[in-house]
Amino acid sequence: MKPWRDLSVASKLYVVVGTMAVLIACELMTLRFAMNTLSAVRAFVGGEALWSKAQKDAVQSLLRYNITGDERDYEDFTAHLLIPDGDHLARLELSKPDFSRELVHRYFGQGGIHDADIDPIIALFRRFHSIPHLARAIEIWRQADEVIPVLKTTAEEFHYVVHSMPSDKKRHAALIERVQRLNNRLTSLESDFSATLGEGSRWLERLLMLVLFCAVLLIEGFSLTLTVLTSRQISRGLDEINEKAVRVASGDFRGSIPIRSRDEIGRLAREVNQMSEALRKSHSELEARVQERTAENARLLEEARAALQARDEFFSIASHELRTPLTSLFLQLQLLDRELSSGSERVGKMLGISLQQARRLTGLIEELLDVTRIRLGKLELHYETCDLSQLVQETVTLLGPEAERAGSRVSLSTPEPAVGRFDRNRINQVITNLLINAIKYGEGKPIELRVEVAGARGTLIVADLGMGIAPEQQQRIFERFERAVSGTNISGLGLGLYITRQIIEAHGGSIHVSSEPGRGSTFRVELPLQK
Ligand code: ADP
Repeated sequence: MKPWRDLSVASKLYVVVGTMAVLIACELMTLRFAMNTLSAVRAFVGGEALWSKAQKDAVQSLLRYNITGDERDYEDFTAHLLIPDGDHLARLELSKPDFSRELVHRYFGQGGIHDADIDPIIALFRRFHSIPHLARAIEIWRQADEVIPVLKTTAEEFHYVVHSMPSDKKRHAALIERVQRLNNRLTSLESDFSATLGEGSRWLERLLMLVLFCAVLLIEGFSLTLTVLTSRQISRGLDEINEKAVRVASGDFRGSIPIRSRDEIGRLAREVNQMSEALRKSHSELEARVQERTAENARLLEEARAALQARDEFFSIASHELRTPLTSLFLQLQLLDRELSSGSERVGKMLGISLQQARRLTGLIEELLDVTRIRLGKLELHYETCDLSQLVQETVTLLGPEAERAGSRVSLSTPEPAVGRFDRNRINQVITNLLINAIKYGEGKPIELRVEVAGARGTLIVADLGMGIAPEQQQRIFERFERAVSGTNISGLGLGLYITRQIIEAHGGSIHVSSEPGRGSTFRVELPLQK
């Protein structure tokens, strides 16, 4: 069935219609053959009727001649027998393997058969002479043909007796009796012939009807089977494609149409499968992209929310931080104004406080400016050769009084110089930030600063024994505005360590913290040195 399934739909239809046409043509040919054969049988029977009428007429003429003695009656006898003679010759000719159609036409014409009937008779004789019914009829015909010469000899004797011995009644009677016997014999053969042919024609009729019936059954059965098969296959394929299309339209890309043939339906099914697969791919790509975008949007939203919160917090801290020194500065300036007018001695002290607050304010503003510079990539470094140990000593000296005020004792260890190419001011800013933080968060406990040199790397260690930092905060504190203490507790904007790390990394170094809450923190800064 596979080659049939793989045929195109158009070819299948051609095959179905073509087969039906061929079978109908066969049926028509069978019908034509049947009609011709039956017509030949009819002509054969007609010929026999002529034969038997001529024979009867001949016998009548002979008997009349016996009574009248008229020669014309005898001539009639001879003339009537020309018909059986013609048929006899035709039969002999037809029995030859290479018979002459022309001669047969001439002989049957003599036998009185219509020219149009002769060819069907020839066909019948040649084709079916070995079929039992026809073979028997021909045999009877042959036997009758054998009787005719006997009749002729008897007639000649009759002629002689009528002519030469008209008074020999006994001889006359014997001859009449012989003619009667011959006539009876021929009549019996003729009825046998008719009966045999009749039987043969009925048999043939039945046979042809059976053949026709079988041909019709075959045609109908075959065409019906082909039609049902083809239409079922087409409608099944279309149903499957339809179902799939409905599923794809509703977004269900699962499963594919089974490819049952290589015809138009099979090709359509394959293309629908490919289309569905392409749609499924782009659909899942789209879905993935939508999910990606949604996640990205959520992340951006979260970032934006965090940035807004950080900004709000920063502004709250910044305004708080800036207001404190400003209020103090404002108060000191008011007092200074009053003291100056009254000439008090405390002017110097007030000026000291004012300067300290103004410095703090400047520091805060500097921090903010540094952040802006870092963000814009404009943190400029002016390198020069300097000694880290010396810079640390200077800063400790500078901030000593502040540490003292906070109650922290600062110990310093710089066993050897650590010379490198640094931006002096920025490295000072780093040391200051770390030391101020140790003072701020050191809870008045001892602070240790140490400079170590190992090959081309110098390490500054700033360790305190203060409040320490929770592990989860230790990475965050190096980010902008990130603090590990609540805003109002200890002052600060959360920018010092961010700026510190940016400066150190710009110098090619790194900064790390190790800390334990309640036990203090140790910051280690590594910087490249000159060899
Ligand atoms: P701030 O202005 O708040 O001091 P920093 O960037 O210098 O900003 O420090 C960030 C945060 O890191 C501080 O708010 C503090 O919580 C924590 N921190 C910094 N140094 C220390 C330290 N030595 N001991 C404990 N916590 C510290």
